[in-house]
Amino acid sequence: MKVFDLHADLAIAIGKGSADSVLKEQWHERFKQGEVVYTSAASFFRGDESWEDMQQTVRRVKKDIELSGAQRILDREDLKDDQKDIIYLMTAEGMCGIKDDPEEKIQWLYDQGNRIGSLEWNDENALATGNWGDPARGLTGLGRRAVKKMNELHMIVDVSHANEKTFWDILDASELPVIATHSNAKKLCFVERNLTDQQMRALASKGGLIGMNACASFIHEEKEKRTAENLAAHARYIADLVGVSHVACGFDFGAYYKDEEEDYDIYGPEQTQNFINGLRKHGFSEEEIEMIAWKNVLRFLREYML
Ligand SMILES: [Zn+2]
Repeated sequence: MKVFDLHADLAIAIGKGSADSVLKEQWHERFKQGEVVYTSAASFFRGDESWEDMQQTVRRVKKDIELSGAQRILDREDLKDDQKDIIYLMTAEGMCGIKDDPEEKIQWLYDQGNRIGSLEWNDENALATGNWGDPARGLTGLGRRAVKKMNELHMIVDVSHANEKTFWDILDASELPVIATHSNAKKLCFVERNLTDQQMRALASKGGLIGMNACASFIHEEKEKRTAENLAAHARYIADLVGVSHVACGFDFGAYYKDEEEDYDIYGPEQTQNFINGLRKHGFSEEEIEMIAWKNVLRFLREYML
């Protein structure tokens, strides 16, 4: 079954490669094997990058996609149910390089093709506070301006790396639904980056999505239980809590950004169908699996994008 992956660290994958189009040379075949048809292509910023660094990375991602010959999702017309070849949705993970003029800089990110953005990674920056930052610090005044500008452009705010205070501040500040592109349920695996029931209820009631994250340590606290089937257990739990229409995929595959291969069954895009089979084992109907795999995201983007 085809899949829409809401979070993929492809800027890092591109940075590690050497071909004109790393995506085409090293990844297109692996997407095909896993039936990943729609994928995000995240430009990732950990917290110490300047605005110029951000621009350079975003340009590089855009260029690699162009040279790969693939299309990008830029507006509603690019969303096709019968999509067969890989298509990219550019996203920005972290905006630490924005220290002033958030309106102008977010406009630039949008003009380059980015349609989802998180104000922070785990860092604490001029806009917001991520998971490693001061728990008492949330969205800043500059961050509020950033959310407003993103709402204006219908650029989706991603809350996956926000600390709890920032999460609630963004939910309050955003006039449009927000999404957590790559976070699981804290109830099943207690790590900072997963979401509490209360957070997921609030996100869903605002119309948002939660993307299931295949990062091993976010699946299960016990090492031997970090499997695609147990990732599907998160989807089951969240669907039971807030409804299947809010569950999506945001695998954050280690294969894109890790230096050493990890040995479990949902590490790279070619293993995506292990998760789909896991959903079957957790009692989802084929129709529901299709929603989680790609239909919820397409529905969301159709309603959201300009
Ligand atoms: Zn991330």
